[in-house]
Amino acid sequence: MTPFVYQANAARVVFGPGSLQQLPQEIERLGARRALILATPEQAALAARVARALDGRAAGVFAEAVMHVPIATARAAREEARRLDADCAVAVGGGSTVGLGKAIALESGLPILAVPTTYAGSEMTPIYGLTEDGLKKTGRDPRVLPRTVVYDPELTLSLPWALTVTSGINAMAHAAEGLYAADANPVLALMAEEGIRALAAAIGALADRADDLEARGEALYGAWLCGAVLGSASMGLHHKLCHTLGGSFNLPHADVHTVILPHALAYNGAHAAAAMRRIGRALQAADPARALFEFAARHGAPTSLRAIGMPEEGLDRAADLAVQNRYPNPRPLERGALRALLQRAYDGSPPQP
Ligand code: NAD
Repeated sequence: MTPFVYQANAARVVFGPGSLQQLPQEIERLGARRALILATPEQAALAARVARALDGRAAGVFAEAVMHVPIATARAAREEARRLDADCAVAVGGGSTVGLGKAIALESGLPILAVPTTYAGSEMTPIYGLTEDGLKKTGRDPRVLPRTVVYDPELTLSLPWALTVTSGINAMAHAAEGLYAADANPVLALMAEEGIRALAAAIGALADRADDLEARGEALYGAWLCGAVLGSASMGLHHKLCHTLGGSFNLPHADVHTVILPHALAYNGAHAAAAMRRIGRALQAADPARALFEFAARHGAPTSLRAIGMPEEGLDRAADLAVQNRYPNPRPLERGALRALLQRAYDGSPPQP
């Protein structure tokens, strides 16, 4: 067996339908009594409901989270936490809201509790992002890892179908890249394969009945596993490409992941045979890249960069940026091959090695 290092991230996970009701005890467990509730404007009503349910333990609500954590929003949230003398923050929402919680924790060390409502997986990682002057900087810091995560599948019943699929594929991408990461290990491999399997099965079931709570639970369970893989393994071509495309061309996060993943897997496939076998087993498919491309199309998710607002004249620059920073990836980064990959992704053509 290949030698490895396994470093678990210490978070407490409370999982199950209705588990939101356990939030007051979980706050108390951290020794906190004045929670600042974070949400996006779209989820302000949910945040207010959570605040009411906290029975005096809510210091206030800050419902201004937006994608990619602009530094001005982070500063405003930090200031609000200080003004209200909050001793913890509860992030209720997707990666954008959890990201805002992390920005507060990064500066103040305030403990964060996360109540995820998408499958993005940020709640399981010590990775933070902050956007200043149009540039998103990311980093890893153990202080930003949420201490407690309450996964309540009931909160995902309202997740729009499009985001259900794209956010689920975003989660699968963490697991897929974790499988061929330079710092992969057998424990993460188990979580990754099971995470992809659970999400694929759950989204298949949700296509028939989007309010199937059992399937919502299975999807969230898969998202948890995939998020944990992201939190412990370093990511390769797929995540770097998505970061570049999302940041430089302002494309929606989960959509970019959905379009790129089949192409990134096809690019790396021949150089990551063991990972491909596991992904193939999880998807019950011989060609995982093709299977994911068809999975996205079958469930109405975008399969082309063109459809999500990428300008065609940006493809050359994206290819340049993709080879600018070197990082471990199963297949070496070749500009010509990556430019061709980007063209296929732009056109919505099927993935090719
Ligand atoms: P999001 O948090 O931006 O949410 C998208 C929209 O969906 C928002 O309007 C939100 O309010 C709404 N929404 C969320 N859950 C809902 C629900 N259950 N019902 C109805 N509406 C709901 O989307 P996301 O894809 O979860 O997060 C994307 C962001 O997270 C990106 O900025 C990405 O970089 C970041 N991210 C970070 C990490 C990390 O480890 N740091 C991991 C994954 C994603």
